[in-house]
Amino acid sequence: MVFEFVFEFVFVLVFEFVFVFEFVFEFELVFELVFELVFELVFEFELVFELVFEFVFELVFVFELVLEFVLEFVLEFESNNTYLCRMLKKDISKWVDKGLMLPLMEEFYTIQGEGFHKGTAAYFIRIGGCDVGCHWCDVKESWDAETHPPTMIEHIVANAAKFSDTIVITGGEPLMWDMAPLTHALKEKKLQTHIETSGAYTLSGQWDWICLSPKKNKLPVGEIYEKADELKVIVYNKHDVIFAEEQAAQVSKNCILYLQPEWSVRDKVTPLIVDYVMQNPKWKVSLQTHKYLNIP
Ligand code: SF4
Repeated sequence: MVFEFVFEFVFVLVFEFVFVFEFVFEFELVFELVFELVFELVFEFELVFELVFEFVFELVFVFELVLEFVLEFVLEFESNNTYLCRMLKKDISKWVDKGLMLPLMEEFYTIQGEGFHKGTAAYFIRIGGCDVGCHWCDVKESWDAETHPPTMIEHIVANAAKFSDTIVITGGEPLMWDMAPLTHALKEKKLQTHIETSGAYTLSGQWDWICLSPKKNKLPVGEIYEKADELKVIVYNKHDVIFAEEQAAQVSKNCILYLQPEWSVRDKVTPLIVDYVMQNPKWKVSLQTHKYLNIP
């Protein structure tokens, strides 16, 4: 009985042992399979990674080649362009010198606010460039001609003709440029040509009305005194009235004489001008009515 029991026990033990052994064996196989799979995966991943890396490397290489090509192209284009720009600049400045192009600051249709034609609708063409340097100048942006685009006079005239029969050329100082081609083109369209100038440069162009506004800094030159239709002196202080008389002594007897208060000191100088004109009635008062009307 005891022997049978021991035998059974040993038998079960051996059986269990074999079972455990089989389990371990199976586990080992599974482990090996998993390990193999992981190994394969890592291997495959490494291959894929290498391929991707190679591809990226090639891509970078191609990108570098393209970049080099673009750079070469840009450099080539730039040097050609600089050359073209220089050529163009040279041609443009020749055209500007001849008055066929002008540095156009602005153009607008408004009411002439000052002088003899005040109240008349007119098209204003403001040409850039002035070296007179009035400290109270209200269009200092006009001084540097380089900042205003050289514009074909045909284009300026075509615009002007759409708006008015009366064209006022102002600045800046328009006589820094040859006004002959512009005024000739305006006259061909049967337009009235008016100029507002300090007279600091030689008179050019064909004018129906010349408004001479002389400045102490740079006095008028040449024949403009005889040709002026109106003399407009801007009064900033008392001494400007003396200057106005000196200038009036040089214009023709038909020239209409105006004293105009400088806008920033108008409250101070207007009473002085009013008194002076009442005592010297050859003079008239000119006001910048466009500024009171709040129009350009
Ligand atoms: S001449 Fe006319 S544009 Fe020139 S600085 Fe004097 S006010 Fe200004």
